[in-house]
Amino acid sequence: MSELISLTAAELSEKLSSREVSSVEVTQAHLDRIAEVDGDVHAFLHVSATALKVAAEVDGARNLGARLSPLAGVPVAIKDVLCTRDMPSTAGSRILEGWIPPYDATVVQRLRAAKLVPLGKTNMDEFAMGSSTEHSAFGPTRNPWDLERIPGGSGGGSAAAVAAFETPLALGSDTGGSIRQPAAVTGTVGMKPTYGGVSRYGAIALASSLDQVGPVSRTVLDAALLHDVVGGHDPHDSTSLDRDWPCFADAARAGKASGSLTGVRVGVVRELGGEGFQSGVSSRYAEALDLMAAAGADIVEVSAPSFTYAIAAYYLILPAEASSNLAKFDSVRFGLRVNPPGGGTVEDVMAATREAGFGPEVKRRIILGTYALSAGYYDAYYGSAQKVRTLIQRDFDSAFAKADVLVSPAAPTTAFKLGEKLEDPLAMYLNDVATIPANLAGVPGMGLPMGLAPEDGLPTGIQIMAPAFEDARIYTVGATLEALLEESWGRSLLSHSPRFPLDPLPEIGDARTEGTRK
Ligand code: GLN
Repeated sequence: MSELISLTAAELSEKLSSREVSSVEVTQAHLDRIAEVDGDVHAFLHVSATALKVAAEVDGARNLGARLSPLAGVPVAIKDVLCTRDMPSTAGSRILEGWIPPYDATVVQRLRAAKLVPLGKTNMDEFAMGSSTEHSAFGPTRNPWDLERIPGGSGGGSAAAVAAFETPLALGSDTGGSIRQPAAVTGTVGMKPTYGGVSRYGAIALASSLDQVGPVSRTVLDAALLHDVVGGHDPHDSTSLDRDWPCFADAARAGKASGSLTGVRVGVVRELGGEGFQSGVSSRYAEALDLMAAAGADIVEVSAPSFTYAIAAYYLILPAEASSNLAKFDSVRFGLRVNPPGGGTVEDVMAATREAGFGPEVKRRIILGTYALSAGYYDAYYGSAQKVRTLIQRDFDSAFAKADVLVSPAAPTTAFKLGEKLEDPLAMYLNDVATIPANLAGVPGMGLPMGLAPEDGLPTGIQIMAPAFEDARIYTVGATLEALLEESWGRSLLSHSPRFPLDPLPEIGDARTEGTRK
């Protein structure tokens, strides 16, 4: 196994630009890793047949002296919710099986323009509905830390691919937590940008007022580097923010270098903790808060009473928007078409196609959404949920008056067993209790590893949130906290060395014990 797979994107970037290694070597190492472990992990739905060709082109350009972007030649995996004109884009659904879009999502175009090397498309819950990747029509992804456990969802494929060293970088999408919760349970970093900060053009929509595309990686700096590539205004997306963003990689580097949180007011959200949170998650969280306080942060408790209603509001708003977004899968324009036995009308074909093409969770949400939007119920359900959304936004405003960043555990538990919550939708929905408020308010949030839970040795994650547009603040505080945590562990938790049951990396002990603090 090549040691190239254990390097971060920032490290690869240096070795590539000094020509110590070639992109072909780096890409081949990751393709080998995918061939070696993905049969077990199943992070990928499709592996690109042209990755080595793209890598060779980047090497050629570099050898000719071209000025290349920092991540040129670095491999990246792409969540299958994003349209790619050279690879199938299924959103984890039978109804789009084999569908190859006629265009690239803007974020994919930007990856290509910056000469990253797309490795393939990653598995996800069907249409990004779920917290475990078990709702994928193509079978679940497994958590590299324990193959009997879920990698989170809906972006479990991207998180698992990064955690299993199949790729240093991936793109995800986060409507209610699908970047941050998988990050928490796989020991990776995931960032949901400010709503509108990253283009959604060519992202297969789940709930358009909530969806955001963002980076997945093993370090805060790597997430920032990828965010710098894909972010920024896109005239093709009417919700895209037209503003100047700072360099997020610089923000992360500043945080890493400073090692201090003096003067930073860290707001601990009272409603996101305590009951319902696993003891090892709560104890690691308490330790992370102690570390921040020791580094000079001013830890303040803030209350956000409306967050208690966030899941309830989300499961009205999301299904309502999803039922409308999914209406376009009508057997005529995209993908699957099923003719009912004996023929039938257009409506019959449509019904037979949607019956065969959508899985149970998608059907459940379409039914919920159309019900919530139906005349006579609209005000009682959708209208009330929108009012709750406003209250949540106000809670954020008052919390951010007292704190520069807000923190909470990113997920209430460590990775649960495959099948454990599959038959219980409400138990599944609770996994996003900490992440959903940020989507409802449009504010940015990051999931960051905070150590292993003592009782099961599995990763836990902390969430850091900031006011809208202040993504850079998250990168700075996140990189500082990451450095403090690594110092307290005596080494990096995941950037170099998770316990990985398939093939432990050299010079790594057992992170289940080593991951506990000195
Ligand atoms: N798990 C949440 C849901 O099922 C979030 C999904 C997402 O962020 N795409 O809706």
